[in-house]
Amino acid sequence: MHIILLGPPGSGKGTQASLLASDLKIAHISTGEILREEIRRNSPLGISAGEYVRSGKLVPDEIVIAIVKERTKKEDCREGFILDGFPRTIPQAMALEKEGVTIDIAVSLEVTEEECVRRLGNRRSCLKCGAVYNPLTQPPKKEGVCDGCGGPLIIREDDKAETIRERFRVYSRQTEPLLGFYKESKRVSSLDGVLNPEKILTNLKNLVSSILSTRVSNP
Ligand code: AMP
Repeated sequence: MHIILLGPPGSGKGTQASLLASDLKIAHISTGEILREEIRRNSPLGISAGEYVRSGKLVPDEIVIAIVKERTKKEDCREGFILDGFPRTIPQAMALEKEGVTIDIAVSLEVTEEECVRRLGNRRSCLKCGAVYNPLTQPPKKEGVCDGCGGPLIIREDDKAETIRERFRVYSRQTEPLLGFYKESKRVSSLDGVLNPEKILTNLKNLVSSILSTRVSNP
């Protein structure tokens, strides 16, 4: 099962990808998280990607395509994977096809820009492990400290107001056209991303079940 989650920054792709991946027991691949981990480690890849990520621009296609090629070869991807934040451009989508990866479904989470900006403005992320919190809807047990690893919670550089606006410009220019790309092959569905997270997950699971049942009737 190969699933792509699409949607603007702050639409909840990461949260839903993580919940759905544990439910389906398949891998969750977040290119943003892989890049942030490289930046934290100060690796050569992190050094070359850092400036793009901090300013809300896209990291060049060849870099992210290479990351995803490598990641999808790992053992935990054998039963499938959910891509969160990839592809973000048409050439990235074409690279997946070239690799022979058949996408079962691309799901677009629909959330208005104003709502995403509000969510991202409240978001706090762990500096050490990247876990995400929200003081209003998902607070940590101890203020400013990650429940999981004890790391400090910060506002991500690219969650600052001016960078959020740039990420939206990039999204509508470079990523939204992907909806048309997947629509052509009838592999895209939209879901209301403003519902509560449990309800969105139920809707996602229903979509996946309907794909699995078509597979059984048309093997
Ligand atoms: P995300 O966590 O998905 O919001 O990604 C954070 C940042 O990582 C983005 O604003 C980009 O700078 C970079 N990034 C993540 N995924 C990609 C991708 N598929 N292509 C290019 N840049 C990416």
